[in-house]
Amino acid sequence: MIDLHSHTTASDGSCTPTELIGLARERGLRALGVTDHDTVGGLAEAALAAAAAGIELVPGIEISVDYIHGEFHLLGYYVDYHNRDFAERVAYLQENRFNRNAVILRKMQETGLSVTMEDVEAEAGGGQIGRPHMARALVTKGYVGSVQEAFDRYLADGMPLHVPKVKLAPPEAIALVHRAGGVAVLAHPKFLEFPDFAQLRAELQRLKDIGLDGLECYYSQHTEQETADYLAVAREFGLLVTAGSDFHGVSKPTVPLGIIYQGAGGDEALLAPLAERAGRTRAERCSVRSGAG
Ligand code: AMP
Ligand code: ZN
Ligand code: FE
Ligand code: FE
Repeated sequence: MIDLHSHTTASDGSCTPTELIGLARERGLRALGVTDHDTVGGLAEAALAAAAAGIELVPGIEISVDYIHGEFHLLGYYVDYHNRDFAERVAYLQENRFNRNAVILRKMQETGLSVTMEDVEAEAGGGQIGRPHMARALVTKGYVGSVQEAFDRYLADGMPLHVPKVKLAPPEAIALVHRAGGVAVLAHPKFLEFPDFAQLRAELQRLKDIGLDGLECYYSQHTEQETADYLAVAREFGLLVTAGSDFHGVSKPTVPLGIIYQGAGGDEALLAPLAERAGRTRAERCSVRSGAG
């Protein structure tokens, strides 16, 4: 079994990369995709832990993409994160997040919510800071009863403390993943929030035309009908199929690692086409799996 979508403390997950690999091992996963939001900061540690645990790490990133509605998240698998162009662009996204966090904190102060950057950092475990950590700080400080209430009252889109994030446009994000040698997969198509499947299908056709490689058909929050629809459209357009839980740990307690569809993980057979698209040979991947690389 495999799981190609998970988060660590490098973004908004609650497990360190090493803890996450340990959990993947407990769950009996053969391969794990680590896909933090707009950062590759957890991948080096994850690679070491995975090699020691005999688990195949699928290095990834989940890029927030600018879109007219819903949430457009692009998974980039097997990106060469040392690629200069890629590293610079990701650093630009990080810098923008940093500035945005400062603006949100200033707004909090103005609203009478006394939360400091130190308070928020304490919630983030050393990784990238985002709204979930601000929400947790508001809970810790007693201003709200839950993370959800923090979003509903303050941080959600359209609420008083919301500050938009700088995002790449779809063609730019797909091209960036490709330039770094990666495979571009649309995460959780459900969250694009198209009113009907026909409109989503038309958009997937356009995305395929600009280079989209795959679709996360199997996802912990897709229904059976959605899964079937996405599989059909992936087959029709020749898109690769991936499977992911989107495990975050305590910040998304209803989503366990490795449980994706009908109570089970993803099929291992999904991995080879993905790796092949990225030009990863079988020999390379097997050396990782056996702990030799
Ligand atoms: P950020 O990248 O800082 O904008 O934070 C995005 C994260 O905040 C998402 O991945 C979700 O985990 C969380 N989030 C965004 N909107 C909401 C919402 N309305 N309710 C709860 N969590 C949310
Ligand atoms: Zn997240
Ligand atoms: Fe996502
Ligand atoms: Fe995710």
